[in-house]
Amino acid sequence: MWTRPIITTALLSMTLPGCASVSTQLPDITLPQLKSEQIVQEASAFAELSRLKADLDRVAFPVLRANTALCPKTKYDIGLQTHSLKSYSKALRPAAAREIAAASTPSIVYVRPGSGADKAGVKAGDEILNEDNKAVSATAKSLQAMFKDGTRKIRIRRGADVRDVDVEPTEVCGYPVRLSMSGTVNAYANGRSIRITQGMMKFVKSDAELAMVVGHELAHNTMGHIPKVVKNVILTGFATRYTRPFELESDYVGLYYTARASYSLDNVEDMWRRMALINPRAVARAKTHPTSPDRYLRIALAREEILKKRAAGEPLVPNFIKDNKAPDT
Ligand SMILES: [Zn+2]
Repeated sequence: MWTRPIITTALLSMTLPGCASVSTQLPDITLPQLKSEQIVQEASAFAELSRLKADLDRVAFPVLRANTALCPKTKYDIGLQTHSLKSYSKALRPAAAREIAAASTPSIVYVRPGSGADKAGVKAGDEILNEDNKAVSATAKSLQAMFKDGTRKIRIRRGADVRDVDVEPTEVCGYPVRLSMSGTVNAYANGRSIRITQGMMKFVKSDAELAMVVGHELAHNTMGHIPKVVKNVILTGFATRYTRPFELESDYVGLYYTARASYSLDNVEDMWRRMALINPRAVARAKTHPTSPDRYLRIALAREEILKKRAAGEPLVPNFIKDNKAPDT
């Protein structure tokens, strides 16, 4: 986890005219007006969601691609995301169908510019078909198995047109990065995937800062922190006792991941000065996480270490305590 969740979006319950408890004359609105405004807000919410998802994918992809040598698990990526109605909460499904054409079967919702799928002419709205000509999701195990075998052909349906296209898969770290619909400034790793909140997407000031957040969560997964924390909970009953060193290690290793993806490390530690503004309690004292000054200073030192290695032409690999644990780059 990136930080303790401290900012929550307060949902204020609002009542419409007709409520007996108010003592002022509220402006009146009609049901059609309400419905039409609802459609406007849903449309802009989905447009924003699509923009943030594309932004996150654009920034996270280089981090996942540049660190395969340090990732215990890899997969093949052709640069697209699929969705279906089930990808959305029940309340959002009618709007998802209307605004972004989500249907009960999976279809492509996003194609990364410059990716294998993009070069092959695959477009949002297309469906990926399996050998039985049924639409499948991009994460389907059968697709991954195909790419592992060296297959480059996928079958695409666009309206009535069905065709086989050649795609060039890229090997990436096997921990998908997803957007989490929450205003909280946070990010999470669960050992299998990574989630970055909308709140965090708005908090970061640059691609490099977002890449550092992705790198931090990726490090939790690659360094096996999650099973270790779970094991400690089982053995000792305390998870928090062991969280602080893991956070510092993820900051350290994650900064290497960021550098290996060619993001600039200039002033990345400044994020922790801004974090102090929204979470002043973490400046002097933090129960489960390192304090923000601690993280600020150590990230600055890690940056110096990385820049020295880069200047000397040395491989950008974190300093492991046991040399034999360091993998080849
Ligand atoms: Zn963390």
